[in-house]
Formats: sequence, C-alpha cells, structure tokens
Amino acid sequence: MNVQRVYRFGTDEHGADVTEGSSSMNYILGGKGANLAEMARIGLPVPPGFTITCQTCVEYSGAGNVWPEGVLDEIAAAQADLERRMGKRLGDADDPLLVSVRSGAPFSMPGMMDTVLNLGLNDESVQGLIAQTGNDRFAWDSYRRFIQMFSDVVLGVDADLFENAIASKKVVAGVRSDSDLTAADLRELVEEFKGIFADSVDAEAHPELVVDGAVRFPSDPSLQLRLAIQAVFGSWMNERACLYRKQNGIPDDLGTAVNVQVMVFGNKGDTSATGVAFTRNPADGTHEFYGDFLVNAQGEDVVAGIRNTEPIADLKTKPGLEEAGASLERVFGVLESHYRDMCDIEFTIEQGRLWMLQTRVGKRTATAALKIAIDMESEGLISREEAVRRIDPKQLDQLLHPQFDASAEYDVLARGLNASPGAAVGEVVFSSDDAVARSAEGHKVVLVRWETNPDDLKGMVAAEGILTSHGGKTSHAAVIARGMGTPCVCGVESFRIDAAAKEVRIEGSDVVLHEGDVISIDGATGIVVAGAVPLVTAELTGALETILSWADEIRLDESCGRARHVRVNADNPADAELALEFGAEAIGLCRTEHMFLGERKSIIQSFILSDDVEERERAVQELLRVQTEDFVEMQRTMSGRSMVIRLIDPPLHEFLDDPRELEVEIARREAAGEDVSALRARLARIDVMAESNPMLGLRGVRLSIVFPELPLMQVRAIATAAARLKLEGFDPRPEVMVPLVAITAECVQTREVVERVIAEVAAEHGVALDIPVGTMVELPRACIVADEIARHADFFCFGTNDLTQTAFGFSRDDAESKFIPIYLHKKVLEANPFETIDDAVLELVKMAVDKGRAENPGMHFGVCGEHGGDPASIVKFFNVADVDYVSCSPYRVPVARLAAAQAKLAAK
Ligand code: PEP
Ligand code: MG
Repeated sequence: MNVQRVYRFGTDEHGADVTEGSSSMNYILGGKGANLAEMARIGLPVPPGFTITCQTCVEYSGAGNVWPEGVLDEIAAAQADLERRMGKRLGDADDPLLVSVRSGAPFSMPGMMDTVLNLGLNDESVQGLIAQTGNDRFAWDSYRRFIQMFSDVVLGVDADLFENAIASKKVVAGVRSDSDLTAADLRELVEEFKGIFADSVDAEAHPELVVDGAVRFPSDPSLQLRLAIQAVFGSWMNERACLYRKQNGIPDDLGTAVNVQVMVFGNKGDTSATGVAFTRNPADGTHEFYGDFLVNAQGEDVVAGIRNTEPIADLKTKPGLEEAGASLERVFGVLESHYRDMCDIEFTIEQGRLWMLQTRVGKRTATAALKIAIDMESEGLISREEAVRRIDPKQLDQLLHPQFDASAEYDVLARGLNASPGAAVGEVVFSSDDAVARSAEGHKVVLVRWETNPDDLKGMVAAEGILTSHGGKTSHAAVIARGMGTPCVCGVESFRIDAAAKEVRIEGSDVVLHEGDVISIDGATGIVVAGAVPLVTAELTGALETILSWADEIRLDESCGRARHVRVNADNPADAELALEFGAEAIGLCRTEHMFLGERKSIIQSFILSDDVEERERAVQELLRVQTEDFVEMQRTMSGRSMVIRLIDPPLHEFLDDPRELEVEIARREAAGEDVSALRARLARIDVMAESNPMLGLRGVRLSIVFPELPLMQVRAIATAAARLKLEGFDPRPEVMVPLVAITAECVQTREVVERVIAEVAAEHGVALDIPVGTMVELPRACIVADEIARHADFFCFGTNDLTQTAFGFSRDDAESKFIPIYLHKKVLEANPFETIDDAVLELVKMAVDKGRAENPGMHFGVCGEHGGDPASIVKFFNVADVDYVSCSPYRVPVARLAAAQAKLAAK
C-alpha cells in the first residue's frame, strides 16, 4: 500500500492553493501541520511548505533511526516542488530559498521539541541573501544564527561555546549589545562558529560531515535538511519531551510531524516584527487582543523573554506596522468564527506584510475557559451543550485552588505579571534540581528563576508555585504553569537573582532572600510577599455556577435517557454542608467507622477487648448514645435528601493499640516496677485479634455476623435519630448499607437484624420508618451472584476501591507505592486502576447492574469508590455500566457534576 508521508500546504507559483491536509488530520500532520493546512485552506497568509507525517517519525525511530524506504525520495521531491512553487532554490547563490524545520506533535508540547531556522544558508547563498535584501548585516546575522541553532539542535554542540564567542566579539568590537555588532563582526563570527563546529563534532560518529578528512559545517542544503529533520524526529524522545508527555498523559507512540516551511523574517528592520497572541485573554477570558510582539526580531525571541516585548494592542499604532496590525485583527475574527474557539497564534510581519506561522485552539486557565464558553454561547458561536462539553473537568480543580486570605495582612515585596492563578507558599529554590530534591524531602517550594526553559519542567512539576524575573505572559514559565494549573508570577523585574549564590536582592528594598526562605505568591494578582500568607479556597460563584447549572440541566434531563446523579461521600456535618454548597444531591456513602475515632476509641476498645459481659454492654450503650447524636446532626443537615449509611466496615484491629508500641510500654512500666498484668492481658487479646491479611479478614459484613451487637447498636442509632427528627418535623431519609458482602446469606441474615431493629424503634417512637437496606458490592463474587443478592437489597453501591483490590489481587494499601509505578513505567498497565476504573473491573460492575436490574427493577445503583470522582471513570460508569449516581468527596462534586453531564452528552 502506498502511504502518503509528505503533504503540501500553501500556494503554487501562480498563487493557487495546493494544500493537501486539513485540521482534521491532527494525528497524521501533528497539530501545527494540520492547522497550517487549515489556515492555508481558508485563505489566510501562510508561508508555503510541506509536512512529513507523525507516522514517518514513529517508523524512523522504531527502526533505530533508519529512514523507511522511499521517504528520502519523497522529501527530495517535496523540496523540489517547493523550490518550483517559490521560484527559488535552497542554497542558491543569487536568490536563495530559506526554510524553517519545526516539530509538531498531535498534542501541543510547547517548547519541548526542536526547531531549526534559516536552513539553506551557506557561503554562497548568504551572498544571494545580501543581494536580495541589500542588507549584509541581516544576512550574516541570519547565517550565524543558523550555524548556532543547527549545531546545538542537530549535533548537540555546547551552546555556551557560541555565546562565549559572541561575548568576546562584543568586547573586541567595544559594543554592549548583540545588535551593535556590524556585518563584518558577524561575518567573522560565522567563521569562528564554523571552527567551533568543526572542533566539537566527532568525525567518526558523523562521517557524512567529513570533507577532505575533517569535519566541516554542511554546506549542502539537502544534507542540512535531512539532518535537521532527523534531529526533530529524535527530539520526540528527548528527556524533557518524555517527561512532558508523562505529565500530560500523551501517549509515547504518536510521534511528531516535521514542518518544512518557507522562512519569513521578522528581523528585517523596523517594519518587521514577530509575535505570539491569543484571540482572547487566556488568563481571564476577556474578549480582547492579548499577546506580545517584538519589532525587528526573529522566532523564539518573544517566548525566550530576552527582550522586553510590547503588548499586541499597540501593534496597530506602530509606524510601518499599522496595516499588518489591522490585518491581524481581521485574522483574529476569521479564526474565531472558523474554529469557534479561542485561538493561539504565532505570526511574523516581514516588511509590513503579515504571515501566519501557527494557530491552534489555545490553552487557557479554568477561569478563562468558563468565561469564554459562556461568552461564546451568548455570542451565538456555540451551543450550551458545546459550552459544557468544552470545560475540562480536571481544570475545575484550579478554581478550587487556594487564594490569599482576604483578611490576611501582609506587605507586598514585589509585583509581577499574574501569569497563572492560585496562590502558593513555599521555600525559595533557585534551580529545578533543588526544587525536586527539597520537595522530595517533604518541603513545599517556590521555584524562582530568571526565566524557565524546557529543562526546568521537573522543577516546575515539583514546585507549589513559580516566579520568574523575566518574560511576559506568553513566556515559557507562564504557558507551562497555566497548563499545569500551578500558580505563577512572571516578569518580577525587581528580583535581582543570583542563582549561583542562591540569593535574590529585591531592588528598592533591603530584603535579600536566600534559599529556604519562605515566600508567598499570588498568580491571580501577580503579588509576591516575604513569609507565609494564610491561604483560603474560593467559593463557587459566577461563571462556574452558570456552567454547572447548565451541566445539571443536561445530566438531570430525563427526556433523553436516565438522569445522572451526583452524591457525596461525607461522614460529618461540615463535609455534608460543604458538599451541598458544591451541589451534591445526597450522601452516597457515610462511613461510620470514623465516628469511632478520637476520644471514642477507648469505648470501642472496651467492647472488643473485654471478656466482661457487663462492660461490653456498657460500651455498646455508650456507643449507641454518641452515634445517635452523630446521626441526628447528619440527618438534620440532610433533611429531605437520601443519606446512605454504611455499617461498620474496617478490620477491628484498626481500632486497637499498635502491639509493638504496647510491648514497649509494658517493658517501660515493668522496668519502673509497675504492675503490668492488665496490659499483658490486653496485649494477648490484641494478638488473638491479629490477622495476616486484615484487608481480607474480619471486616465488613463479617463483623456484623460475628459481633451482632455492633449492627444492632448502629441501626438502633440510625433509626432512633430518624424517629426523633421525624417527630421534630424534619424529613430524614437514611438508608442502611451492608459492606463487603460476598455471600447472599450474609445479606439475608443482616437484613433480618436491621429490619427487626427498625421496626422496634418505629414502635417505640410511634412513627413510621421506611429505611431502605442495600448492599455494597465490592467483591467479585458478589457481582457474579448479584441477581441472588438483588432479591434482598433495595440498592447496590459499588465500592470500586475494594472491587479493584480484589479483582486484581492488588493490596490497595501497598500496590500504589510498591509496584504500580513500575507497571506504569513498563507499560504493563496504562493507568493506575485505583485512580481510573479498569475495563475488566468495570465489566464486573456492569454485570452486577444488569443482573440486579433484571431481578429487581426498582433498585438503584451507585458508585462510591474513589473512581466516583475521576472524570474518565465517571463517563464509563454512566455510559457503560449504566449506574444512577456516582458519589465522591466534597471537593470533587463540581467536577463530577460536569463529568456526569459530559457523559450524558457523549451518550447522545
Ligand atoms: C470502596 O471499597 O470502594 C469503598 C468506598 O469503601 P472503602 O474505601 O471504605 O473500603
Ligand atoms: Mg470498601
């Protein structure tokens, strides 16, 4: 089969569009290639070029960096075609064509992979460039930049060698800035750079670069092009790209495309410029032009933060750039109405003419995502459903991020740009390695850098917050931090950082911060404070509420399929109240064992450890008293809403003293001459209770069968609380859930006890109590006999933590720290099954739902394991297993509401 590996874009020699790709070809052409093709298709000014597919990269790397058959011929043909279209040739001595060679993967990986600009220059073509532009300084500057970039990117030559040569040249020339170097200086630098190249590259490793027995900088443009493409392919697997993919869940086997594109120059004088922009403000979503440009600059200068940029809004008023600025505004409009989304673009203006180098749907903060979705809905660009679909549930976490407490008092130490929202407090570190090391020791750190670069990714991941002294809101630090949801303040110009000395002086103050000093940053306001500012978490208001209310309309609409409900896992009134504010409809899981901790631990200990019947009875009565109080409070809070209360679940030894600590205590008291016989008896009893596999031991419903006093007491407390509240006029709706059922008889016997107690309490109080009794399904056997169990249960709630543990045979206490990371690394597993539901475990859930519903159509089904708050799992629970609700911790409730609506939309 003949697979097309090279796709053209842009115009031919007659100005006719010859584009072969489109934006739907993301996985073939990469994001950049696909969108270049799309822009060319809709008539925007795109410099012509061609894209080599991602699949070619995969094949090339998979074969150990060997070119698949025929590809080099295809590239040569595409090069010849491009030369024909442009009427120029690479390396031509009269009128040379120059190209850029850029990576472009299916998912945006900003700054992670390599780029080579000005390719095609050599000693002959530089003369052609001088002739064409009449600007010898520009031509020599382009040539020296090319050698520098090519050497670094393609051959890995130490970039400092070139920077040192430039620094020496400036000293010799008696100038301070690069831009003061003359054409003659730059011409000399080109020679020096070629020398550095020849001295640095290993001849044996690169025989293709050897001429007359010595390494030479390649002058053949076709060789330059082949090597540059190879380097871009290779950069897919560089360390920072691999780390970025891991962080962002991007598969390793997609590969990157390579875009070879005619160069346009933003550095041809004061009517030339280059910039990056967004069609709306990506930080807060405001509909305004947002971004930076630099006059007379090339490519990466803007994001590198080397020179101070100007705001894009000023472009239209810059002499010589007015027309291009107006064109850019028109392009913004075309892009938004075409993509129906906020776009992020890179452009260059060459001598007054605008060229689009890239566009994609832009990354944005959660705040901006909400505002843009709502605004675009009211502008008629998108539907309500589309607005809901567009919000990434995981991003909502950003909104729940901490902020500076408004009532806190602090002095502002410095101000920078509010690059990524959220506040962070941590110890100052000046390098990524230090950030990683200190955070591994359990310290919270703020990474303070002059500017970040892609190698800083690991430090940025480890840090609570990021501060840079240079760079704008589209600088590397800002873009990456926003993507990660990490607070970031950038461009804090008063910070005079000395990374080597690990200190920073603050201009205009006496303050000097050293490594380890604590600072606070607020990425929403750009404020920096010395010391720790108290943080608070935001309330859900405004845009978030609007989107969530739209999400609720969608997920609860029964006219198109079953409603998707969201409940909360809460076991105290404060959490229950918070969850109601977050929009939970009911309590899906109230774990009662937490009600036995703290000062109450001694009561349950007396019950378990005592042989004395009266003492045990006293303990049970005391537990009954305190549990009734708990349930009164909780059921009052939840009046009118269901509240599923689980009977005691964990292994009893969790309530007992640690035997090792007790042994130490006995030895200590014995040495002090005290009587330790009672302690010894206690230890003996604890030893009797000890189990080799407590997770598979005396827990869940087994406790209720072995110690019937416990469920008796708990159900009495639940029912009594309900009866009292009813008499007070409330509407309590408790439901009793029996955990860890594997055998139908466990359910039958426990249900008998539960119903008997409920009837007794109802009679005692003279009220009717209708308390459903259900089963927690969290063992594979229960799923298999779900039809049998369903005859004795009013509902099933899936405990997917235990179900995952028992389906895999992975201990949920140990697996995540011991071997799951290795399984993920070695790709034995694609995702952590304790985080995102595994398909086989999901199949068990589905089986139990199907069997249960067939047997008992009135039942309801929910999920209350950790997976109930994971967006990817939520979609599967609703759309594959067909459950009625998910239940999760309070802070995940908004995320679950959105994911549940998205599940409904996906099922439509
Ligand atoms: C579960 O097993 O999924 C569950 C919710 O119960 P727990 O985590 O308390 O065992
Ligand atoms: Mg469980």
